[in-house]
Amino acid sequence: MPPSPEPSNVALDITHIIKYDPFLYFPDGNIVLAAAGPVQNPGRYDSDSESEDGSSIDSEEARKTVTLFRIHRSLLSMHSRVFRDMFALCSEGSGGQTWDGVPFIPMFDDDAQDASNFLRVIYDPHFVPADLYDFEYHRIMLGPLKLADEYEVEGMKNQVISRVKSAWPSRSHREWDDRDYMVAEHYNPSVADIEDAISLVVEGGIQDDVPEQLALMYYHLSTYSERNDFENINSEHFRVLFRGRQNLNRDMLEWTKVRFSDCLGFTSDGSEKCARASLHMKFVAAFVSADDPLACLCEAAWRCEDGDEVFGAKLCLDCLASVLWHLNHTYRYSCFKAIKKHFAHP
Ligand SMILES: [Zn+2]
Repeated sequence: MPPSPEPSNVALDITHIIKYDPFLYFPDGNIVLAAAGPVQNPGRYDSDSESEDGSSIDSEEARKTVTLFRIHRSLLSMHSRVFRDMFALCSEGSGGQTWDGVPFIPMFDDDAQDASNFLRVIYDPHFVPADLYDFEYHRIMLGPLKLADEYEVEGMKNQVISRVKSAWPSRSHREWDDRDYMVAEHYNPSVADIEDAISLVVEGGIQDDVPEQLALMYYHLSTYSERNDFENINSEHFRVLFRGRQNLNRDMLEWTKVRFSDCLGFTSDGSEKCARASLHMKFVAAFVSADDPLACLCEAAWRCEDGDEVFGAKLCLDCLASVLWHLNHTYRYSCFKAIKKHFAHP
């Protein structure tokens, strides 16, 4: 629900600490909006509670703070029918509140940092990180996404959905592997980065629009299990991770029960007998112990293509070709499909 458009029902009083958004208080703006709390670090959410001038803000002060934005009605009206109606109402009658000579609308149900980011997205096209895999994006866009929903800014919501779909490709395991390689190589996201991506989708209320992407986010988070104690993860997230990994392992072990028949051929260098028959157990061991089963299968496929050992087994050329085919068309394909199913948000 949008806040009441009646401007006289909530007033600023002497107990409020009034701040001005450093970027979004335009001298030629023709309406002032007020949202609750400080804008700590323009455009960024910081956990250390530093304001933009470097001073720290305690929670009592933050609770009393309101941040003012002086912006342009026409621009906001263009994006949102809800804003257009609010502005129309406040300019109709007399007696509405004013601030700095222009109409004043309290939006005390909205967080000032959320509002600041939301308005920045509308005003400044360079504010949103252009790099598709920049994890800062999820942090910056949660506030704007919430407000886009509240004020019916469909375009902004659709843009977030489409960006999440591009950054978390769910159509094929090959696309995912490319993305995974790129992200690991150049971005090295932390547990908090992945959690922020999940928050954007869940708290931003778009999980029905990107269910497969959300499952991939959970899967990505589960690949950190051996290296982190997950102290910031809530129990609901933990259940998804734990259950997802359990079910995935169960499925993959089931599929791996396909027998690899014995082979009388010799390995590519001719030195040893092909070890195809023993591949089954090595496959199981490698898969179950892997932090990231999908990446483990991908690496096995690469090694296979290069004619190397697969899960420590030396194979003849015929068997390498056959195992490669199974890796690409059975295991990786099935594993990717199973991830989207088993890591689904409840
Ligand atoms: Zn063989």
